[in-house]
Amino acid sequence: MSATAAKQAQCEQCGADAAGLRYLEGKRVCRDCSRLLKHEKFKERYEAARKAQENRVKAEKYKRRIQFAKKGKTAFQNRDYKTAVLNYETYIKVLEDGFELERGTLTPDHFESKAEQLLMSAIYWDLMRLFDRGKNPKEKEQFDYYMMKFLLFTKNTTWQRVYRNNLRRYIRWGNPRHRSEFIQLLKNLGGRPDRCFIATATFGGNALETQLLRDYRDERLKEFLLGRIFIETYYVLSPPIASLIGKSEFLKKLSRVVIKSLIKIWIH
Ligand SMILES: [Zn+2]
Repeated sequence: MSATAAKQAQCEQCGADAAGLRYLEGKRVCRDCSRLLKHEKFKERYEAARKAQENRVKAEKYKRRIQFAKKGKTAFQNRDYKTAVLNYETYIKVLEDGFELERGTLTPDHFESKAEQLLMSAIYWDLMRLFDRGKNPKEKEQFDYYMMKFLLFTKNTTWQRVYRNNLRRYIRWGNPRHRSEFIQLLKNLGGRPDRCFIATATFGGNALETQLLRDYRDERLKEFLLGRIFIETYYVLSPPIASLIGKSEFLKKLSRVVIKSLIKIWIH
């Protein structure tokens, strides 16, 4: 056997002596290597096709992303909160994918269109209020996150004023679980919160009486028109009265007696 003949009988991939070598990609290879190489090739092609398909789906989703936002809004209005959260979160995820961002790193700077930034504000506004209802620590975490995002997408915009009013209304009528966070948010957007001024001046902000009055206002008074008119009037008239009460021990005592008997009449 000549040296050349021996060489020709060797697989150029693994070097093994083998009969029945075949050509693959300009190489003479054994049957095992041929199978392996074909498998590799197939895997590569498959992987490339899968990636291309994935990118097509992503691009298609990105084009239709507004539909997720709309579906979320509709679900929210129909009080189907699970579907709302799902669609809102899909919308945000599609945006992050579109901009090739890590989760949670979307900012207003990524948007050329003010309209879509406004949409983001609206979505975070809904998500924040949904998770305000949550009872476990995980939901509180989500709530904090969405509130932070809402502030980011709303501060120093032309629609900040609209949300200041929405916030004031929500704090007043919405009976928020995280009231103090919402008040802080309102302040961060340059707004001033309403308070139960007279009760606060008389008893202090955290007193049982103040809380009872707040609950009464939120649960009963706001239910009917006259109650709402009373509250609106009260908010205009009460700060100067509260400031007088704050300065006088006599007025504080008088106010205490009056409010306590009012609570007795209302609540019992
Ligand atoms: Zn081989």
